[in-house]
Amino acid sequence: MTDYDVIIAGGGLAGTITAQSISYYSNQNLKILVVDRNSEFFPGRKSLAGWVCGDACSKEAVDFMSNRIKVKWTRPEIEHDVKGVMAYSPDKETSIPFDGEGYMLNRQKLPEIQNERCKKMGIEFEYEINLTCLIYDGQQVIGIQGIDNKTKQPFKKTSKIVIDALGVTSTLRNGLENSTKVEKRIDRRDLESTGRYIMYFDQGQKDLTEFDPDYCIIHLDQDIAPGGYGWVFPKADNKVNIGLGIEKSFLDKRNKRLGKKDNVESLMKEYLKRNKAIKNPRLSEDPEDINNNSGIFQVSVRRQNDCMTSGGYMLVGDSAWMPKAIDAGGIGPALIAGAIIGNNISQAIEANDVSETSLWQYNIDFIKEYGYKTAGLELFRGLIQQMTNEQISYGMKHFLGNMDVESISKGEHPDFSGLGRIGMMIRGVMNKTVAKALRYTSEQNQWLVEHYNNYPKDPSDFDEWKKTLHKRLDEAFTKVEAFGT
Ligand SMILES: Cc1cc2nc3c(=O)[nH]c(=O)nc-3n(C[C@H](O)[C@H](O)[C@H](O)COP(=O)(O)OP(=O)(O)OC[C@H]3O[C@@H](n4cnc5c(N)ncnc54)[C@H](O)[C@@H]3O)c2cc1C
Repeated sequence: MTDYDVIIAGGGLAGTITAQSISYYSNQNLKILVVDRNSEFFPGRKSLAGWVCGDACSKEAVDFMSNRIKVKWTRPEIEHDVKGVMAYSPDKETSIPFDGEGYMLNRQKLPEIQNERCKKMGIEFEYEINLTCLIYDGQQVIGIQGIDNKTKQPFKKTSKIVIDALGVTSTLRNGLENSTKVEKRIDRRDLESTGRYIMYFDQGQKDLTEFDPDYCIIHLDQDIAPGGYGWVFPKADNKVNIGLGIEKSFLDKRNKRLGKKDNVESLMKEYLKRNKAIKNPRLSEDPEDINNNSGIFQVSVRRQNDCMTSGGYMLVGDSAWMPKAIDAGGIGPALIAGAIIGNNISQAIEANDVSETSLWQYNIDFIKEYGYKTAGLELFRGLIQQMTNEQISYGMKHFLGNMDVESISKGEHPDFSGLGRIGMMIRGVMNKTVAKALRYTSEQNQWLVEHYNNYPKDPSDFDEWKKTLHKRLDEAFTKVEAFGT
């Protein structure tokens, strides 16, 4: 007999959606506990710096969640509506819309409302618990342990399944002992260091490439945000979430190239200062922003963990490295995975089988809805990071056809149909290299999507599948890196 049917470690966005999803699929018949290190008054806070995020999310992902598990988001958790995301080339001559309509969320209000909803469903919460590791019975995870920060006493609870929703730094995943399939650690190069401010401002110069109340703006620029990008996301006509993300090795190269010593914080300040549409910016002191108006946190930009289940254990959200590799959007995939996982869990518990094999279907279901495209996007990210501003501008301007923009808008890897245009002359060695590299990632993407569509039906074929994947990805990354030299 366990204390709970399901324990969800981490009461952030992914954890609380998962809790509602399990409750929905099991007709509120399962005993669910959500455990988090935050106090009751700061639910879902990532760190002391707050709920550090760009706060943007596509309507499509929210609709997916609402349709599947009947959870609706309205105001005040949605703060502002947008028509889409607009990515600008470094020379600003090309812009690509993607992700379609969407929302700017209030990340502090959202968990408050989520938790109230969870409590009404009978879901229990334990706050101020610092989780350190899992409890095992042989090959099976059967619970969690940590320290209760209120009493300084050890905290232990058992359950049939533990969901790891602890975010990118998950201590449970890092120390997982019952699986050789789940990856424990992330490559440093797959992590972006990101930061942002939430601010009010006065209208400066009217320039829709710098602030647009209807669009989330992304600036690709290797000087401004090396290996990442800058963003200006509207929260109102005079309110903005402005920030950027970088990858450390590309920042080092950029600093060397420009003879500078910038870090994320100094780049953020510079990015804000150079924006002429934003005049007299000041940090928001609204009650729901006051503990959340400035901060830096990490986000992963790779494919999801190759395997997200082991005996009695499942990963969801940032702990599974779900954020999209090209734009670090993690809310959408967390909503999709969260909405799916409840079905897998309630079926496994009903069948009285929570083994690795029984929980495996979750990997397949997530790949079918979302995960099939992530490895291709990871490779594409690798290529963009290698490119100079000149190359990115040229590639966006000359090689993207309408179909490519449509693929990008669906969050998929483009085919670069523009490359095959009859009569297209590609002048210059640099531009030929860009064309070759784009064509190469597009070919690799087709193979990767196919490989994910053949994800093993059960754990027995996983090692072979993974070996093939890694061989291909290693080769592809070596080639992509060579394009940059
Ligand atoms: C600067 C930045 C900008 C971003 N912008 C966007 C964006 O615009 N759109 C988008 O879609 N995504 C964005 N993302 C990603 C997005 O924020 C995440 O994907 C999302 O928050 C993931 O939610 P999660 O619940 O998986 O993890 P988290 O939000 O990290 O939640 C994890 C929870 O677990 C708790 N926890 C962690 N460790 C322990 C422990 N040991 N014991 C107990 N509790 C613990 C934490 O306190 C927290 O409550 C951004 C990320 C960053 C850093």
